Amino acid sequence: MNEQIAYIIDIQDIDMNIKKIEDDEAKNIHEINESAEGVKSQNETLERLKNELSELQKKINLCELNVESYNEKIEKYTEAQKQIKTNKEYNAMQKSVKDNEALKSLEEEEIIKTMSAQEEIKSAIKITEEDIKRLSDIISNKKAEVESDKIKYCDIKKNLSDKRKKLEEILKVEFLNIYEAIKNNNKFPAVIPVNNNRACTGCFRILPPQQFNELLSGEIFMQCPICSRILYYKQEVPEINSDAAKNNTEKNKTKTNKKTKIKA
Ligand SMILES: [Zn+2]
Repeated sequence: MNEQIAYIIDIQDIDMNIKKIEDDEAKNIHEINESAEGVKSQNETLERLKNELSELQKKINLCELNVESYNEKIEKYTEAQKQIKTNKEYNAMQKSVKDNEALKSLEEEEIIKTMSAQEEIKSAIKITEEDIKRLSDIISNKKAEVESDKIKYCDIKKNLSDKRKKLEEILKVEFLNIYEAIKNNNKFPAVIPVNNNRACTGCFRILPPQQFNELLSGEIFMQCPICSRILYYKQEVPEINSDAAKNNTEKNKTKTNKKTKIKA
């Protein structure tokens, strides 16, 4: 492989590692923000549920006052019945007692219904509080992770950036500029292999045989005529399923990588 292309691939590997770190950091921040949004929304739900609970309690209090008032009336009419002489008056009083008992019974039913609604709200409050706790735990754990990653990644990023600077010194400026331009054009990876079918693995355009042979020679710097990515040829390793073969492939890959890497 062309030495200059090997340098560009090394720079790209470094950029990919840096991007992975930045993506990881962004993912954690995103998860913190998402959980914070969740806490905010669940706190609003909690407040609404607590208000509903308090409204139901007011309703129960009112019903209890009504029950008390019906009880007083029932007691009053029952007492009055004892003083009454005529049947007509007695019956009228008896009717008043029954009417008030019926009204009292309605209030009592309402109290039971409202208390059951209260129980439902109480369990919704419990679930919401548990969710707030779960989300708050995620936030504090992720924040701690971000802090410790910051220290860890800082060194790794510094190391990667030092290696990149060394590569930039030995890579021709015009190649570096082309690489950066492709990368900044959101075509990342910017340097990409052509497969055994002569296809650019970025846009899958097939290279004409003549161009492919030129690429095989490893002597020239070539960009894909369609997607502009920098091309190199990479022999495809046939897929073998057994683990032993897989391990060998992994070892070979490492060897190939070592070959293309320059001494930093
Ligand atoms: Zn292409």
